[in-house]
Amino acid sequence: MILMKHIIREGHKTLETVAKDVRLPLSSKDKKTLKDMLQFVKNSQDDEMVEQYGLRPAVGIAAPQINIQKRMFAVHVTDFDGTPYSYALVNPVLKAKSDEVIYLPGGEGCLSVDRETSGVTPRYKWVDFDAYAYDPENDKLFEISLHLEGYVGIVFQHEFDHINGILFTMKLFETLPFAKPAFEAEKTLEVSQ
Ligand code: ZN
Repeated sequence: MILMKHIIREGHKTLETVAKDVRLPLSSKDKKTLKDMLQFVKNSQDDEMVEQYGLRPAVGIAAPQINIQKRMFAVHVTDFDGTPYSYALVNPVLKAKSDEVIYLPGGEGCLSVDRETSGVTPRYKWVDFDAYAYDPENDKLFEISLHLEGYVGIVFQHEFDHINGILFTMKLFETLPFAKPAFEAEKTLEVSQ
């Protein structure tokens, strides 16, 4: 089970290293990592688990954050229209992206960044990813194409950055004159990625 003590923090070299492709078929070790990452994100959204294990609420985690230099991440998030996105992805490839740029009002949060940050991070308004998705319940790996917009797209881009050795703190801007907020600034999000 992944706990906060397993998560490496800003300054650790792994967080600034481009992760390697995962070899297929998946090893049992990689399957366990994918399952554990998805479970961590779910646990972090469960009040009892948060209290019992001192978890920080999150919507995603990437393998480099637990010091595994492989191209894998898990996301468990519900969009504002109620659509759930729950995936443990392997070797995602960014196939297409919007010209338009957006940002998360109030800035992003990260399990690997403990300090308060100020500024916003530019993200594409939408992105298309091709990837393998692992379903730990059924021990199945399948190919998937995802079109992701707005807030959910930002979450996936944040995780994708992690496997490329990029932290949101490396692209913080006080203002982004050509970008739009992903949603009305009154909505606040108290989750990390
Ligand atoms: Zn992060």
